[in-house]
Amino acid sequence: MDPQDFEDEGRLLIVDDDQNIIRSYRRLFFDSPYQIEYAGNGEEAIRLAQSLKPHIVLLDIMMPGMDGYSVCEQILSNPETGEAEIIFISAKADDADRLKAYSLGADDFIAKPVNPDELISKIVAKLRRRSSYLSKIMIDPLTGLGNRRHLERSLEKYMKMADMYGKSLVLTILDIDFFKKVNDTYGHDVGDIVLTSLAALLKNNLRGNDTVARFGGEEFVILMPGLDPQNAFSVLDRHRREIASTPLVVPGKDIVLYIPVSMGAAFFPLEGTDPETLFKIADENLYQAKGRGRNIVVNGIFETKQDSKKLTVSHKPSR
Ligand code: GH3
Ligand code: MG
Ligand code: MG
Repeated sequence: MDPQDFEDEGRLLIVDDDQNIIRSYRRLFFDSPYQIEYAGNGEEAIRLAQSLKPHIVLLDIMMPGMDGYSVCEQILSNPETGEAEIIFISAKADDADRLKAYSLGADDFIAKPVNPDELISKIVAKLRRRSSYLSKIMIDPLTGLGNRRHLERSLEKYMKMADMYGKSLVLTILDIDFFKKVNDTYGHDVGDIVLTSLAALLKNNLRGNDTVARFGGEEFVILMPGLDPQNAFSVLDRHRREIASTPLVVPGKDIVLYIPVSMGAAFFPLEGTDPETLFKIADENLYQAKGRGRNIVVNGIFETKQDSKKLTVSHKPSR
């Protein structure tokens, strides 16, 4: 994952009571990748801010009715919209105006007439900083995979897409079997190498649209869009077998390990249409998998008869 994942995500709210100015903004942003709403007065700005949840607000000061200062105060004091960055854009741009704007929490102040290049550069820079920050806080530093936060975002997007195209989506929780034993036997460093190797293996084995995140500790979550529930078992079971039979080499230590994993799956929309339900079902199935001896895939619907072979972390591959 890199910052570009978020770069086209900008949501802008542009507020000015002068329709000619609004028209010139529309021309300026007409082929931009951002989602933009335009407001002609303060009240409309507040309303649009609530639905759009803008990242950046371009805000005029002098407007009939509610002025820009009040709009700024209201947007920033509302937890739903308070993360927005406010750029005041005003002809009223003396020191007192600027100081007042900054004291209310504004991030920037541009005097009219606006230099379009300057405005665009500022917006791009702000959104870039935001995306690079987001990518940092959404990456698991050990494995380089997305973390739980990233997973929540991806799941939301994947569910939306699946819904839109009438497709299914499989959510699977994967948990390493007897991982504590790896740490206890070989040390935490080796445990970390196992996690990193497994992450790389998963990434490598999954298809283009699939995604994997580190959910926590030794648990990973895989999202597979467009995979029919009927086929899910055989696909997941193939991954399970591949993982269990791939030697994980610990560099410099002369250790080669085979790591079995258990998986619990849940199907969108067949079994649930919200993240909580899907996680709950996948987790219950994972629990079943552990109870039935580990190194197996369990799903609640399209189960294929399969018994786990007694397996533990070992120096031999398992099937
Ligand atoms: P089970 O088969 O039931 O899943 O048993 P388990 O031993 O895999 O599971 P358990 O929950 O008992 O232990 C998980 C272990 O994972 C304990 C914890 O110390 C270890 N762990 C969690 N995060 C990390 C990590 O980042 N690095 C290492 N090396 N170990 C970790
Ligand atoms: Mg666990
Ligand atoms: Mg485990």
